[in-house]
Amino acid sequence: MMLLQQFDTLIMALIIAFALLLLTALLPWLISAASSRSRAVREELVEVVGCLRCDYESSKKHEKGDYVGKVVGTCPKDGAFLVVKAIYVERRAQGRAGY
Ligand SMILES: [Zn+2]
Repeated sequence: MMLLQQFDTLIMALIIAFALLLLTALLPWLISAASSRSRAVREELVEVVGCLRCDYESSKKHEKGDYVGKVVGTCPKDGAFLVVKAIYVERRAQGRAGY
């Protein structure tokens, strides 16, 4: 009877040790799962381009090398120069389709 009780404590200790081991193994996974949830909000560089002559304005995805004041094209309304007027960071939630 006494031996069986000792065996029980041994099993219990093993289960606790295994549970702790499992917890330590799962912890990095849990942390990465939590951080991937915060990564769902994506940051995107957007720029506003506008016509120098009229009030035409449009926003587009920022392209490497673009800067405020750079001529990026011509106005569809009157053919005047289109320049980058502003560059900003836009935060948008991921998972939305089409934009
Ligand atoms: Zn224009």
